Amino acid sequence: MGSIMPPKETIFRSKLPDIEITNDIPLHVYCFERLAEFADRPCVIDGATGTVLTYAEVEAAARRFASGLHAAGIGRGDVFMILLRNSPEFVIAFLAASFRGAVATTANPFYTSGEIYKQASGAGVRLIITESCYVDKIRDFAGEGGITIVTVGDGPAPDGCRSFADLLATDAGAMPASEFDPDDVVALPYSSGTTGLPKGVMLTHRSLITSVAQQVDGENPNLYYHPEDVILCVLPLFHIYSLNSVLLCSLRVGAAILIMRRFEVGPLLELVQRYKVTIAPLVPPIVLEFVKSPLVDSYDLSSIRMVMSGAAPMGKELEDKFMSKLPNAQLGQGYGMTEAGPVLSMCLAFAKEPFEVKTGACGTVVRNAEMKIVDPETGASMGRNQRGEICIRGAQIMKGYINDPEATKNTIDKDGWLHTGDIGYIDDDDEVFIVDRLKEIIKYKGFQVAPAELEALLITHPNVADAGVVPMKVDEGTGEVPVAFVVRSNGSKITEDEIKQYISKQVIFYKRINKVFFTDAIPKAPTGKILRKDLRAKLAAQFTTS
Ligand code: AMP
Repeated sequence: MGSIMPPKETIFRSKLPDIEITNDIPLHVYCFERLAEFADRPCVIDGATGTVLTYAEVEAAARRFASGLHAAGIGRGDVFMILLRNSPEFVIAFLAASFRGAVATTANPFYTSGEIYKQASGAGVRLIITESCYVDKIRDFAGEGGITIVTVGDGPAPDGCRSFADLLATDAGAMPASEFDPDDVVALPYSSGTTGLPKGVMLTHRSLITSVAQQVDGENPNLYYHPEDVILCVLPLFHIYSLNSVLLCSLRVGAAILIMRRFEVGPLLELVQRYKVTIAPLVPPIVLEFVKSPLVDSYDLSSIRMVMSGAAPMGKELEDKFMSKLPNAQLGQGYGMTEAGPVLSMCLAFAKEPFEVKTGACGTVVRNAEMKIVDPETGASMGRNQRGEICIRGAQIMKGYINDPEATKNTIDKDGWLHTGDIGYIDDDDEVFIVDRLKEIIKYKGFQVAPAELEALLITHPNVADAGVVPMKVDEGTGEVPVAFVVRSNGSKITEDEIKQYISKQVIFYKRINKVFFTDAIPKAPTGKILRKDLRAKLAAQFTTS
């Protein structure tokens, strides 16, 4: 007769030892800890203009801009939006959030007015930093909501807006010291997580410091960034992958960050050659374009020693083709999720004593964290080589979703485990493999598309009675696109094109519906939840019968 013991859990940890992490300080203090040493080193290189800002200049600018934010009425805990393409101003504005004790929510500047409005109103945004060319998208709702618009760029700000330069000219001493709690939120990227609409992911000073430390601190870090490195920043900084693993990790080690406003193969190759880029954090669609481009062979890319790929899966064939173009480089995949801070696992190919890297694996769990695999039905912990939902625990994960305790509770359980909605397993060598997705999100070139968002828009059409959206796989470069199953309203003859156009006007290009299938009913559970598995099966059947 034994006592009833809770079942034993199999918990996976990094192959590297844990490290001491001081994560109860403000993020900017952590990033600029070695400022005295790095003051005159290049910090931000603007690829478009060639302008270089040193570490001392970036730190001073962020401090002044924080003071400008304070003067513009942004206090501790207030939310402002960065609606910018990659630029030195993005870096300064984000760091200023930390200096001010404020919260920066980042958004894609190509969003439609409706998409920006939803995020801005949900997050309670008080000020938006953007470029003049995007002001028309935000002017109306900003006016109604008393939101200040700040524009970057030369020349006077558009009517009713303030200029970035104006805020930057504020005396840094004008900002009073405010209280600080390491669990204050500093970044608020948006993600739909495992279900529903996009939600504000609360990342605190403590979570971001922990995540950066897991990657680049200590004797034998996961990511071996050096102060001499030139790190390519082409991935959008509004996504946490770039904000954390490119910007914050580079700042922490004192490396130079080469900023590109957008991805174009020619200019990218030119910049890599000119600035002797050593580290290239990429995503599979960029890798694919790179491999396909005939221009690649005309440039000297021998400076690249490390390529990271994440945000979506990359197969062996693409990996091999790509690496044959970069003889001096090592490639490693990482696995991230906004809610996880974002890095869950990364390959140890770059560590001081590198471990062998397996094709298709996305590394091992980061240090100072725990990972487990659970049966999605029962929640039971699974052993090695068994497939289940990947869960992670540690100080790096989000505090929760803003204003959404219910969604938070459904994602982080009572024991602190973040449930990713990804299905995977961990092999005999602690390598993490992702094999499927339990959650709803559609991933187009690494960008998230939330089916619930499209469904909500579809049913606002008077001729649509009901709708369900699921992903359709395209290819490795694109990933997936959204397709819709639609139930017409009684007597309606609405066409596929009309539906597609209706949605296109309201969403950014990558959320556009690729195909519409008309159906009599959307399969649903008694709770009203759409049975997406059934819709996916229906989609598969369309292609086997046609
Ligand atoms: P996001 O929050 O936008 O970064 O999206 C996170 C999701 O992207 C993860 O939960 C995975 O479904 C997917 N993802 C991220 N990295 C990888 C990877 N290396 N391989 C496969 N899927 C990935």
